[in-house]
This record gives sequence, C-alpha cells and structure tokens, in this order.
Amino acid sequence: MSTWPLVLVDDAMNVALEKATAVFESTKTSRVDVIDINSAVGRVLAEDVVASSPHPAFVASIMDGYAYNSGATVEDNFFKLVESACSRAGAPWTDGTLKTSECAYVTTGARVPNGCDTVAPEEECSVRGDVVTITSASARPPGKWTRAVGSDIASGHELLSKRARVGAFDVGILRFESTSVATFRSPTVAVFSTGDEVGVVADDSSKIIDTNAPMLVALCEQEHAQCLFSEIVRDDKSALVSAFTKVLADTECDVLITSGGVSMGDRDLVKSVIEELGGEIHFGRLAMKPGKPCTFATIPRMKGDVRPLLVFALPGNPVSAAVTFTLVVAPCLRALSGDINPKPRRILCEVAHNIQLDAERAEYHRATLDWSGSARLPKATSTGGQISSRLLSMRSADVLLELPKGPGTVSAGSTVSALIISDVRQSSLFAAKLETPSLPSPSLHDASARGAVPLVSVFDDACCDGSMRELKRAVGLEEDVRRKCREQGSAVDSLSTVYMFSDGASTHVALTETARTDELTRAMTSTLTRLGNASVAKQITRRAYARVGLVGNPSDGYGGKCIAASIANYYAESVLMPTPGTSKIKFVPGPYDGNEYPSFEDMATHIEQHGVDGGIRLLKSLCYNIHRYCLDTHQNIDTSRGGFTLSYTSNIPKQTGLSGSSGIIISAMACVIAFYGLDIPKEHRPSLALRVEHDVGINAGPMDRVIQVEGGVVHMDFSQKREPPSKSSGAPLVVHGTYTHLNSSKLPKLYLIWAENPSDSGKTHSTVKQRWNEGDEIVRNGMLSCAKLCDAYVEALERGAPTGRFAEIMNENWNLRRLMFGDSALGELNLKMMQMIRECGCGGKFTGSGGAAIAVCPNGEEQFENLRRACEANGFNVELVRIAEHSEC
Ligand code: AMP
Ligand code: MG
Repeated sequence: MSTWPLVLVDDAMNVALEKATAVFESTKTSRVDVIDINSAVGRVLAEDVVASSPHPAFVASIMDGYAYNSGATVEDNFFKLVESACSRAGAPWTDGTLKTSECAYVTTGARVPNGCDTVAPEEECSVRGDVVTITSASARPPGKWTRAVGSDIASGHELLSKRARVGAFDVGILRFESTSVATFRSPTVAVFSTGDEVGVVADDSSKIIDTNAPMLVALCEQEHAQCLFSEIVRDDKSALVSAFTKVLADTECDVLITSGGVSMGDRDLVKSVIEELGGEIHFGRLAMKPGKPCTFATIPRMKGDVRPLLVFALPGNPVSAAVTFTLVVAPCLRALSGDINPKPRRILCEVAHNIQLDAERAEYHRATLDWSGSARLPKATSTGGQISSRLLSMRSADVLLELPKGPGTVSAGSTVSALIISDVRQSSLFAAKLETPSLPSPSLHDASARGAVPLVSVFDDACCDGSMRELKRAVGLEEDVRRKCREQGSAVDSLSTVYMFSDGASTHVALTETARTDELTRAMTSTLTRLGNASVAKQITRRAYARVGLVGNPSDGYGGKCIAASIANYYAESVLMPTPGTSKIKFVPGPYDGNEYPSFEDMATHIEQHGVDGGIRLLKSLCYNIHRYCLDTHQNIDTSRGGFTLSYTSNIPKQTGLSGSSGIIISAMACVIAFYGLDIPKEHRPSLALRVEHDVGINAGPMDRVIQVEGGVVHMDFSQKREPPSKSSGAPLVVHGTYTHLNSSKLPKLYLIWAENPSDSGKTHSTVKQRWNEGDEIVRNGMLSCAKLCDAYVEALERGAPTGRFAEIMNENWNLRRLMFGDSALGELNLKMMQMIRECGCGGKFTGSGGAAIAVCPNGEEQFENLRRACEANGFNVELVRIAEHSEC
C-alpha cells in the first residue's frame, strides 16, 4: 500500500503554486526581457505601461463635414466657407483662426481648425458657392462630432498594468507608447517520457508509441512555456539518475515534467530517484480521478543556485498526464511566467444527462459545452468513456466537470462547477443572433398617454449635474428628439420636458409636452439610482466553512459552554447572480437535488445519503425567512435591484457533524444580505439560520451557526439568553449566549478524522435530552463538567500549554460524553474511531455529535504517522485542520 497521503486537488495546486511563485519571486529581476511588441503576445508585462502623451493630441473631427463655432448666432445657419482653411487627416490647417461666421471643410481624423469647436456631418450641410447651410447648427452642443484632446487616452493614463498577460489587442495599445516592452521571459521546461515499453515508433508488439511527450510539449507551448528538450528514458535507475542530473545541471531549465513510473509497480522508480537526488516530495498522490499518482517535488540545484528544480512527475496514462498537467502544472507555468492570476478559470454548467459518481475519488470528468438557445448556463455533455488510457476522452473537451466522490448520480439538469480547459472560442457555443433585443416596455404610462415620444439612448451619468441643459447634452438627444417630433408631425420643438427612466441596462427618454420640474427631478434621481445599482450588479459569492467543536458541551441545548472552530478544509459556497431588468427569483438545484434517478435502487441509495429534498429547500426557506424578518423589523427590501438566481455547492462531508446544511444557509444568507443591503446584525444570523432549519425539520442548536458567522475560534457561553440588540425595532430573534474570539496561534496541530458513510451519526442526542430535562444526575453533572473543561482549555491556550495538556482535556471530554450517552447510543463506528485514536496515544473527541473526530498528537509527527496509518487501515479519512480565521458571512 502506498505511504503517500491522498491530497485534495485544490490543496495540491496551492502547494505547487506556492513553490513556483517563490521561484518566480526570487528570480524575477533576472527574468525581465525587453522584447519587440510584435513578439509580446502571451508574455506577461514586467512594468506598467503609461500613456506619456494624450490621444488624440489635437481636437479631431469624427466626421467628414464642416467645422464651425457652436457659439455662432448665425442667421438661418449660413456660414461662410473658407477654402484655404480646409483641414484633412495628415494635412492639418494651423495657419490662423476662423471667425464665428466662418466654417471649413474637414475630414475624419483631421485637426479641427482654431476658432471651431463643432463639426456638422456632410449630409446635414448644403453648399452653394462659398456659403454652407448647416441645418442642425443651432441645436448642436459644442464639441459634437469631435474628439477632445486626450478623450481616447488621457496623458498619464495606465494603458496596461504590470503582471498582465499581453493579448493581440494589447499589442495595438502598446504601440501608442513604444515598439518594445519589458516582459518576463517564458519559463523553460524539459519533458521526459519514462517506460521500457515507450518508443518513438512501436516497432514490436511489446512497444507503445510515446504520445505523452508530444502532447506535454504542446501543452507547455500553449502556456507560452519553452520546451528545451524532450526525451524517452528507460525504467532503469541509473538511466533516470543521469537524465535528471542533466536537467539539474542545466541552469536555464525551470521545470522538469515526467510521465510514467510514479505508481506502485516494481519498475516505477521516479519517486525514489527524486529522493536519491536529495529532492523533497511535496505530494505523492492526489485524491482525484484520473491521475492519482501525480507527484510534485523540488530538487536543490548545484551549489550557488538558490532556485530548486520544480519536478512534476505525472502518471503514464495519457489522460491522467493531460488532466494533471491542466490542474497542477499549467497554473505553475503561468505563475513562473509572472501571471498574477494563474489558477484555472471555473464556470458553472448544467449537466445534460445523468452521470454516475465514482465511489472512491472526486472525478474530473471531461465534457463539451453547448450554449445554444437562451439558457443561462451552458449544457455539459460527457466526452464518453473516461478510462484514463482513452485519450479520445480529451477530444473536443471544453471543461473538466468537478464531480464529488460518490456513491450516487448527478442527475441531468443539475448545476455543477467546471474548470475550462479549451479555448472556448473554438467550441460549439452557438447562440442565435437576436435581431431585436428585447426592450423593457416603458413604465411611464401617464407620460405616453399625454403624447410622449419614447426614445432609447445611452446615458452617461458622469456628465449630468441635474440641470436640464446638461441632461439634454448628456443624452445627446436634442436634435434626435426634434427630428423625431418633426417626423411624427408634432409641434414640439422646445424641449421643456424630458422624463428618463432606466431598466438597469439602457436608459429610456420620454419627451412630453407638459411636466413639472419636481417630477422631472424625481424621475432623474430614480434613474441615477437604478443606473448605480445596475453598474454594481455583479455576482456575489460567499463561503461558510465547516465547524468543529473543540471542547465543551456536546450540544449547546444544555445551557453550558463550548469552544468551536471554523475550518478552511471544507466549506459550503453560495452564489447570487443578479438579474437586473427582471424581478424573478430563481433557485438552482445543487448537485444532489435531482428529481430523476437511473433506477429504483439508485434512488434509494441517493436519498439515504442525501436526504429527501437535498439543499434547495434550504435556499427557499432562507429567502422566505429573510422576507419575514424584514417585515418584522420594518425593513424595506429594495426590489428596484431586480431579481436574482441563487445557487450553492458544498464539499462538507455529510452527516459528520461538520455543519453542512447550516453552511449552505449561512453562505446564502450572506449573499442575500449583500445583494439587498439588508440590516441583519451578526448576532441575529445564527438564530435566523436556526429558524430556517426548524422550518424544514432539521433539529439543531445555535453553536454551529454562530461559529460559521463569526469565523476563527470562538468561546461560547450559552448560560444566559441575551436580549436582542434592537428590541424597539421589533427584532424578533433571541440571541443565544455570549461569544469571545480566541487567539488560535497557540493551538496545537489538530487533525480531522472522519468516516465516509457514518450511518449512526445523529442518533446520539435522543435519550440524553430527556434525561437532562428530568434532572438525571449523571447527565446534569456530566454537562457541568464538560462546560468546566472549556475554562481549562482557555487557560491552556493562553499559556501556550504543550499538546499533551490539550490531549488530556479532549480525552476527559470524550470520557464524559461516553458516560452520559452510553456505548449503544454512540454507535459502533464512532466507538471504533475513538478507540483507534486512543490506541495511537492521541487525544481526541467528536467534532459534533459523531461521524467525525478531532485529534491531537502529543508526541509529534511520528505519532501522527501512526495515526494516519491506523486511519487508512480502518477506512477513515484524516487530514490536518486549517483554521478559517475570517468569516465571509
Ligand atoms: P505507468 O504510470 O508508468 O505505470 O504507466 C501507466 C500506463 O500508461 C501504462 O499502460 C503505460 O504503458 C502508459 N504510458 C506510460 N507512458 C506513456 C507514454 N509516454 N505515452 C503513452 N502511454 C504511456
Ligand atoms: Mg511505466
């Protein structure tokens, strides 16, 4: 059995990125390379590029036509044409200044002659001899059809910023400033295919063609990395050592990528060669499919070179190599090239058909996207058989669907997250062209009833100071409105009344014959508010982390004390996508919310695992309860912000007392609060979440919800109920207990141990609650002693006590629990887990009501190694706890 722990992909990506970023940071000055802008596409900028002069450098015409002075009071719009002042693009007239009664011919891009500030397009002018009649001249605002100095690019404006990757459009932007630019040089790579069976040709039946090396070289080039050399190396220790040594000696080479030879076979020698060469393996197995043996190591170089060689030893199966390259190697190559944003891009999509989950590992399932029609999310279709030797499963794949570990099925129509792996421009994302975009119907009925002429225009709120004249200029409508009125036979030609209103996407302008100024002001103000709201209509994402109970009462229902921590290892995440212009509220089913199952048997397994109604009911009940809360507290929900779509995902293991369902509620609550700008004080949020759970029939206490709102490590004292903070406003919720944040820096290393299918979690509360209510001595005293252990824990934390002290307290906590609950209520699996922890000499207790435990190792790493092995042998997962210090909720 492999001794390498299974590492989650996100964690592995972060570990490798940290090393790659460190190499980049320590060498970045020597990586700067000034290159011709024509070779800059794909490179990352090593400096900010700032405009040293304005563009345009002079007032330029946007039209072929006649330039004149808008301040002219010329009778009947007649201007005298000055032939000699003609100004063309490339041949400006700069010899004098025109009088206000004069005009000059100009072409598009030409300098507007001195004395002129406005241009009339050719088609609005008639020329007779040296007299030009400009029909629209008196209605024309100054500056019309011209570009002011610096209006495209102001002098000093940042054109492109340091650490941005240069695209084709950027080359044009760069040319404003220079023909060369400072970039970071591309990372350099060596590629080895290992294996006795691998060859350039398959000349006998024992050989296979090396498909990995050409593919990996191409993938590197796609990441703008440069491959220095690629080779096939035999499964032979000395051959591997000498090949590795050659790369180590090459001071130019940043990264070595190998494929094959990293699994469990007797000829899989890559890991041992890395170690023999003094390398450090940072992970040797990933909790993913395909690609489990993926390994990442750093090997120190020859003396004097501080930069280690980054080694990615990928599995030999071509699909495994391709997928692990995408997830782990590509982000590191991007980090090495200076890219500030190296992680793969994630999107949500809807699966087009049922997909069976893998029972053992999270799967990165290849799929193509289809975005035809008007669906909000693209539809993902599997590329077929996913066996890791079938490279055809990568063909036309656009994404890797991030499927959780099974058992069960993701049903057609479920929303899943996915990482983009193709250039989606080449994918089958076809949407029909909308000939007429749907425009919202005008809402100012009274205005249209009075003969309004509704028009649509873009409104630039920066130009509008609220005065009528400025407003007209800002929308640039004066002449349009006049023309429209004339066309429709209306007598209106002085713009006394303009109503404006917005749907968040475009601004509608209605002209009426009569209106009062205060009405106009009101219409404008609400338009600006709507525009403001629309411009911030961005996706809102919040995470609520899993919680572990560190010490104290088994549940806060017993009026005592406890200390809990928010942990970054697992989380629920909600996403609110505003849909301005609609009032629709939509809930997206999560990966376990399907209504369709492949068979009766699958249906039963799925429901046993995930419950009858999954997570979407939590979102619905949450929004209903927020509505209720707002009514009770007399808060106005600002519906002018439009509607939204609310979705969630969660990787918190089920039924392990890690607070999965409340994580969904708390994170979604934070999204809705942020969207509407609601005032729901932090103290109320746990109680509101409880109410949501109560409504859907989940029995819970406030402890989990408190820690998910607060984050970090918190001491909670539930001995008294607090008054709500604003009773006068009718705040309807009881606030449970008082909370104190604790400094987590002196906590010992904590390990989370959890069972995959803890069938007997949750039963443990049953008789204890009843005995507590009846005043049973064992339960009463037990709870009291548990609460006292909190004081001991705080004391140990404050003085930075050795891990052994924490182990004692946790063991005492577990003993008390066992005494109160009795072994039959605790269940076999939980007892086995705790016994295993004890046998390793560790301290431990449940994180909640069973299914998962938290442990400490007083004797350090070696003891942990024993614990890890014991967990593996007993089928438990074990991992180091990372405290989530800050709450997003
Ligand atoms: P390994 O990881 O070395 O155990 O190889 C796993 C599988 O991938 C075996 O079936 C190998 O034959 C195959 N394989 C290894 N290297 C390559 C390669 N460079 N090209 C194609 N297939 C390979
Ligand atoms: Mg091999």
